[in-house]
Amino acid sequence: MSMMKAAVVNEHSQDLEIKEVPIPELAYGEVLVKTEVSGVCHTDLHAKIGDWPVKPKLPLIPGHEAVGKVVKVADGVKSVKVGDRVGNAWLHYACGECEFCLTGRETLCHHQENSGYSVDGGFAEYFKVPADYVGKIPDGLSSEDAAPILCAGVTTYKALKVSGAQPGDWVSVFGIGGLGHLAVQYAKAMGFNVVAVDVFDEKLELAKKLGADKVVNSSKGDPVTFINDEVGGVQAAISVAVAKKPFEQAYESVKRGGTLVAVALPNEDMPLPIFETVLDGKTVMGSIVGTRKDLAVALQFAAEGKVKANISIEPLDNVNDIFERMEKGKIDGRIVMTME
Ligand code: NAD
Ligand code: ZN
Ligand code: ZN
Repeated sequence: MSMMKAAVVNEHSQDLEIKEVPIPELAYGEVLVKTEVSGVCHTDLHAKIGDWPVKPKLPLIPGHEAVGKVVKVADGVKSVKVGDRVGNAWLHYACGECEFCLTGRETLCHHQENSGYSVDGGFAEYFKVPADYVGKIPDGLSSEDAAPILCAGVTTYKALKVSGAQPGDWVSVFGIGGLGHLAVQYAKAMGFNVVAVDVFDEKLELAKKLGADKVVNSSKGDPVTFINDEVGGVQAAISVAVAKKPFEQAYESVKRGGTLVAVALPNEDMPLPIFETVLDGKTVMGSIVGTRKDLAVALQFAAEGKVKANISIEPLDNVNDIFERMEKGKIDGRIVMTME
C-alpha cells in the first residue's frame, strides 16, 4: 500500500501527529489530488479542539483549503481530468436531490459531507474529492493565492452577497483574521464602504492597507459608539470573530432595517434584544460557506486581482505551532502550508 505524509488529529486533547498514512482509495466519481498547498482555517482549529456541538470524525486529517493537481480519476468522473488544478472546499459532497440541493441551497443539504471534518481533508500529500464538488482553480491564479479563497474567500463573499447591502452602503466587519481580511476586500470590490473592527492594531493596519475606510480597535474603545457616531450605523455587519462579545457589538452596529450576518462559530449563545429587533426591523441571519457557483465567482474575483489574501507560506510540520498562534490572534491574514 502506498503511503503519504499527513497531519492527523488522533485525540482532541493532543497535538496533531505528523505521520505516514495510506493514500486515499478512490470510490466511484472521485478524484485524487496531489497537494501543493493547504490553507489553515480557524475551523480546522475547532476540529482539533472538538469544541462544536457536532464532533468531527477521529482520527481526522483536517483541511478544506487545499489545492493541487489531479493525479488519478475513478470511474464515472466526467467534469475533471488528470492534470487539472483543483481544490477541496468545506462542501465536500451534497446529495443533489433534496429540497435544498434542488433550490440552489446545497450548503444546507442534510446529507452533506465536509472536507477535513466528516471526511479527511488536505493537511496531507494527497486528498480526494468527488469530482463534481472540486473547486476549479482559474488559470493565472496561483495555488497559494487560491487556497484561502476556497473557504475564507467564498464564505465572506457569500455573507456580503446575502446581507442585502447595496453599493454605497456601509458594512462592518468584526474580526480581521483569515476571513475578515478577505471580507474587507470583497466588500470594497462590491462597492460597499467598510469599517473594520479587531482587538489588535496590526490587524487594523492590514485592514487599512486592504482598503478599509475606517477602523476601530474594540479593546480600546466602544466600537458601537464609534460606528454610530462616524457613519450612523451600518446596513450590514459581518461577524467573523470567534467570541460572543463581537457578535453582540456587530448586532448593535447595525442601523434600523439592517442585517447582522453571523459567520464565525464560537460555541456560545447570543441573547437577542426583542424590542430592538422588532422596533428597529433588524434581521439576524446565518451564512455558511457558499455553493459551488459562489466559489467559482469568489475565485474569479481573485483571478482578476480584485482580492488577494495576505498569505505566509510555512511547512506542514509547523501545524501545531500555527494553531497556537491562531488561538492567540497572532496570524496576519492566512497561513498556507506546503507539504515539504
Ligand atoms: P482567525 O483566527 O483567522 O480570525 C479571527 C479574528 O478575530 C482575529 O483577527 C482576531 O484578532 C479577531 N478577534 C478576536 N477576538 C475579537 C474581538 N473580541 N473583537 C473583534 N475581533 C476579534 O479565524 P478565521 O479563520 O477567520 O475564522 C473565523 C471564524 O469563522 C471561526 O469560528 C471559523 O470556524 C468560522 N468560519 C465560518 C464559516 C462559515 O461558513 N460560516 C466558514 C469559515 C470559517
Ligand atoms: Zn474554513
Ligand atoms: Zn441535498
